[in-house]
Amino acid sequence: MASERFVYQASPQRVLFGSGTLAELPAEAERLGCRRLLVLSTPGHRHLADEAATLLGGRAAALFGEARMHTPVEVTAEAMAVVRAKSIDGTIAIGGGSTTGLGKAIALRTDLPQLVLPTTYAGSEMTDILGETEAGRKKTVRDRKVTPETIIYDVDLTLTLPVPLSIASGMNALAHAVEGLYAKDGNPILSLMAEEGIRALGSALPRIAGSPADGPARRDALYGAWLCGVVLAGTAMAIHHKLCHVLGGSFGLPHAETHAVVLPHAAAYNAEAAPAAMAGVARALGVDNAPAGLFDLTRTTGALVSLRELGMAEADLDRAADLAVADPYWNPRPIERGAVRALLWDAWEGRRPG
Ligand code: NAD
Repeated sequence: MASERFVYQASPQRVLFGSGTLAELPAEAERLGCRRLLVLSTPGHRHLADEAATLLGGRAAALFGEARMHTPVEVTAEAMAVVRAKSIDGTIAIGGGSTTGLGKAIALRTDLPQLVLPTTYAGSEMTDILGETEAGRKKTVRDRKVTPETIIYDVDLTLTLPVPLSIASGMNALAHAVEGLYAKDGNPILSLMAEEGIRALGSALPRIAGSPADGPARRDALYGAWLCGVVLAGTAMAIHHKLCHVLGGSFGLPHAETHAVVLPHAAAYNAEAAPAAMAGVARALGVDNAPAGLFDLTRTTGALVSLRELGMAEADLDRAADLAVADPYWNPRPIERGAVRALLWDAWEGRRPG
């Protein structure tokens, strides 16, 4: 059913999806009119960057394999030196959110076209959001310039993603959809994508946990992650993302794993204030209770379920609660310090909601 009034902003991105789609890279570079490309990766994915460069032949002008988590500005400065020295006219990011982030940081400074080949479920490739770290502080910018022009989803590139990271990254994607369903600027189009994304990931993650190289499961997970990324791009995130930014930014907790632990508790916090969203999540997961269903999905796939297991000290919970209620994001349920502290305590202990 259509809501009374809403805004839907489509993004002019080109998306290729399938297995073996890496082979389309030269044709897609040609379509963008790029002849001097910079191939980006993390040190661990250098072999993929080499493979991409071989495919591109003379169009690969340089490789930069030093992308790092949270896009430190000094790494971007090093990459920018290569961009200038080699007269680069476009970038190819092959990797997870960290590599995509570097491509976006270059685009923010140059407006060069970006081609992204995602290897995790983070979803950054669909958004106009860039988080950069300078002097230990992460700040987020939104700018159309950073939205990648072309995304090549190649399911084969995700087959090597280790199971714990696959589950955590998948939960990171689910978090975009769950918060998109109760976002203040949500709309029925993105809600369709959110529910379909949750359905795809909810079905795929247990299959991946049992059989990491299961092609159809990997395909469903990547498809779901793409949809969840579109939802992240189109809606304002709420308490869950605020908590994860606090826990990652001020306590150094790992990005995807923190999302996986916090999501069931953020959903529980909002359950009464956002019944339609919870019904959508429950429907998509095939469960009665959305927060408990999210928790069970994490636990049954063998992922970590508590902040304690992620290395957070109990003594830090009070400061985390203070930071989470300072300058809060909009949320369907009012942000109250006592309730947020209780949420964090449940997440620290890894208690099943409901
Ligand atoms: P990541 O890119 O750092 O990858 C995590 C780890 O997985 C790395 O060690 C990487 O080498 C490894 N890896 C990635 N793909 C692999 C594969 N297929 N096989 C084997 N190993 C693989 O982490 P991430 O979770 O993808 O992204 C997190 C970063 O992205 C954070 O900095 C986060 O803030 C950012 N992010 C940004 C947005 C946005 O819209 N701006 C959205 C989501 C995440």
